[in-house]
Amino acid sequence: MWLAPGRANLMGEHTDYNDGFVLPFALGQGVTAAAARNPDRTGSGKRRLTLCSRQQPSDIVEVDLDGLAPGRVTGWAAYPAGVAWALEAAGHRVPGACIAIDSDVPAGAGLSSSAALECATALALTSLGGLDVPRAELVTIARRAENEFAGVPTGIMDQSASLLCRAGHALLLDCRSLESAQVPFDPAAAGAGLLLINTRARHELSDGEYGQRRAECEEAARRLGIPSLRFLTGVADTDSLADPVLRRRVRHVFTDNQRVLEVVALLRASSGASADTYREIGRLLTQAHVSLRDDFEVSWPEADVAVEAAVAAGAYGARMIGGGFGGSVLALVPAAASAAGGGAGSGPVADRGSGPVRDAVTAAFARNGWTAPEFLDAMPADSARQVGG
Ligand code: ADP
Ligand code: MG
Repeated sequence: MWLAPGRANLMGEHTDYNDGFVLPFALGQGVTAAAARNPDRTGSGKRRLTLCSRQQPSDIVEVDLDGLAPGRVTGWAAYPAGVAWALEAAGHRVPGACIAIDSDVPAGAGLSSSAALECATALALTSLGGLDVPRAELVTIARRAENEFAGVPTGIMDQSASLLCRAGHALLLDCRSLESAQVPFDPAAAGAGLLLINTRARHELSDGEYGQRRAECEEAARRLGIPSLRFLTGVADTDSLADPVLRRRVRHVFTDNQRVLEVVALLRASSGASADTYREIGRLLTQAHVSLRDDFEVSWPEADVAVEAAVAAGAYGARMIGGGFGGSVLALVPAAASAAGGGAGSGPVADRGSGPVRDAVTAAFARNGWTAPEFLDAMPADSARQVGG
């Protein structure tokens, strides 16, 4: 059995396709793939890939590995089948296999269940086949599965986080050079906690708006005469743009890249374990949310309300994560504000119920008549690995 984690991104949103920086960390929540080689009982020489998932109980999918091509498999199975296809395309012969998926990463919540599914499958297939594929290559292969086979245009962050992160660290990823570095990130050691708030909202706009933001960034870079917004040297660069919308977009990308580097500097200076550091990072998180809301205009009402309620209830800071128009909010909280609520300090952490931040966000959602949000405790966890068998 192999497990690959979901991820949250601490800082750097819509910076990836502008050749900038992102700073994801792997979650304790992940996708598991229990797998075995599929025997060729008929002697036909056919390699079959059989896929099922506890989260898709009515759907067992069987594909012939030799006939795989983009478009042949649709729905959820496109992600794992796409991994087999991308491995083969890279010259690795995949064995017939039977893979059973299970997960505690909510799907579609912006926590990258799709990359976790790909990466768990990639480890299962390479291990069963005795294939020695370096992690950096697996990142590319899993991304190809998502982009070319499942047809979802995403950057390199999700697969990198799932395959390269280390417990107690965030992963600084330079999306231009693809270089990565481990940055100490251990909020618990400093009496802080990370709370994910799945707003359960997904607004129809998201695909079209995402494409439009990418186009706007490309256009702004063209008008500024730089290869990408990575090459901005300061907010003053935007003065030469006549279009106020493009000016706002550029300001977000520049300041968010700066915030990534600021967070990294803060974490490195304190080895990721000082309370003041987390207070300061919290402030940057909220600043990033305001930038995403007002300058990049990709926030959504449930996220704005969650951020506002979390901060009012004592969170150090919070921001929407992911592309926008739906998904989750990440809040950095004093440990007591996340877990201790009600009978503070009594009982095991899991039984302590909602803390002030959870209560405040839940109440704010109820006031708006929205479905209650889902809360997940986050901690920077290890990357994909074998967990049994
Ligand atoms: P995110 O990656 O943010 O969770 P995506 O839309 O990129 O959202 O990926 C979600 C999709 O991944 C689901 O619609 C489903 O097709 C697939 N998926 C994720 N987790 C599972 C699972 N446990 N079993 C089957 N399919 C899954
Ligand atoms: Mg995804």
